[in-house]
Amino acid sequence: MHPIEMLTEIYSDFENSVSEFKKSAACKIGCAYCCIYVGNVDITTMEGIVIQNRMESFEKKLKAKIRRKLDKNKAERERGILAKCAFLKEDNTCRIYDIRPFSCRRIYSIKQCNQNQPVVHRQAIELADYTISKMQQIDDTGYSGHMSFILYLLDKSGFRKAYLGGKFNPGKIMNFGKGHGIIINRFVKPKSLSFNNNLELPHLL
Ligand code: SF4
Ligand code: SF4
Repeated sequence: MHPIEMLTEIYSDFENSVSEFKKSAACKIGCAYCCIYVGNVDITTMEGIVIQNRMESFEKKLKAKIRRKLDKNKAERERGILAKCAFLKEDNTCRIYDIRPFSCRRIYSIKQCNQNQPVVHRQAIELADYTISKMQQIDDTGYSGHMSFILYLLDKSGFRKAYLGGKFNPGKIMNFGKGHGIIINRFVKPKSLSFNNNLELPHLL
């Protein structure tokens, strides 16, 4: 199976596992607090390739606009500011919803966030961490980090070419990686679940 198909399958396994929990979610279209202030939108390199490929289909002006927003995101994150996602449209909907990364897929809240952190079932958090571990395992020559940092790396033709060619050379990005909290997927210890996946009554945080 192609790695991107494996990624899609991992997304859908997660969706199936948390579908009972999400039934009580307060999320609705246009509610985008989680795309602006909550935490990090981190991605794996494989997800970065999927996003980059989508950006290639944007018309020139839009592509340039998104690139400017990603540069701004990168500068803001470097200063420790929670950045508004570059793919959030003016109407607070997602420009790349169908291919959004897992960081966005894992988030829901049973209470409207309104300046607060999302309220998520404890098992869903564990399932999400387990899912990230699976994504990192199938992206064994890749990295994880803030979306603007991973896309910045992938914009460098040498890095992209080496990654797509299956080469693994973390030394080449060591300085950038250290300064930007980049995770080397291969060195992350795989996670397992502490409960069996037959969902019982949901537990809240
Ligand atoms: S997680 Fe929170 S901010 Fe995001 S859509 Fe759900 S309720 Fe809205
Ligand atoms: S990719 Fe889409 S869903 Fe994810 S943070 Fe950005 S706008 Fe929100």
